Amino acid sequence: MQVKENLSNMSLDEAIDKLSKSVYLESPDIWIDLTDKINDQIFDEMVLFFATKYDVLPILKYALENKFIDLNLPSKNTTYKNIGEHLISVAIQSNNIDIHNYLKRSLGQDDDEILIEEVQIESNENNNSTSYKPEFICPSCNVNIFESGYKASEDIVYKFSLEKNKLIETSRSLLDKTVCCNCNNVIKGISINQLKNICTVQNCSRCSADLTSVGITDKSKMVYDKESNTFNSKSTSFHCANCDNQINKTQVEYFGSLI
Ligand SMILES: [Zn+2]
Ligand SMILES: [Zn+2]
Repeated sequence: MQVKENLSNMSLDEAIDKLSKSVYLESPDIWIDLTDKINDQIFDEMVLFFATKYDVLPILKYALENKFIDLNLPSKNTTYKNIGEHLISVAIQSNNIDIHNYLKRSLGQDDDEILIEEVQIESNENNNSTSYKPEFICPSCNVNIFESGYKASEDIVYKFSLEKNKLIETSRSLLDKTVCCNCNNVIKGISINQLKNICTVQNCSRCSADLTSVGITDKSKMVYDKESNTFNSKSTSFHCANCDNQINKTQVEYFGSLI
């Protein structure tokens, strides 16, 4: 299985396992359908839709490299011109940058040396698992970049191949640089991965640390009472133990009985 070797982070089996678990949690009925298809080596629009939604790039690579699907064929979802456009839209909605760029490349839509893609995080109405609204305020213009959007850039290296007598792409990596879509300034001090983490309710909204790992500090303000000559606890707030940022209301509710 030569293809398996090409997959960088995850083997195909691991990828199928990840997809299978995610889809099972969403719907056991769809899961049966999906499992049948994968066992029969059918990688159609439905399978790739879920692979895109759940950020499982190796499955898309496997399907496209083995020509199990043609992205230019009409999509079952008639809102889109073809399967490729449909999947790109899913990748944008799910904020899966690598898949998004891979699909664009596969469709031949990357003619620039450096690809800059605008990542818009949309409030995902059909994602009923959480109503958590992440927030990261741009230090330059004070908007929440999860609403205004931020841009990520890719670094692509090209070389001329004498063997193939053409220009070939030799490497591609995501630059750890984000730009605010509202004011176009570079957002310093936060990486793309950290921004992804902030979207999860259990991660700190400033430093992105997982609060269940770093811990939460509980601060009580003690106010002096003259009559009783004692300090009384007046209010309590909860903070990320890593950066001391106060955790937000939704997070306090989420951890609820735990704190
Ligand atoms: Zn800004
Ligand atoms: Zn923090």
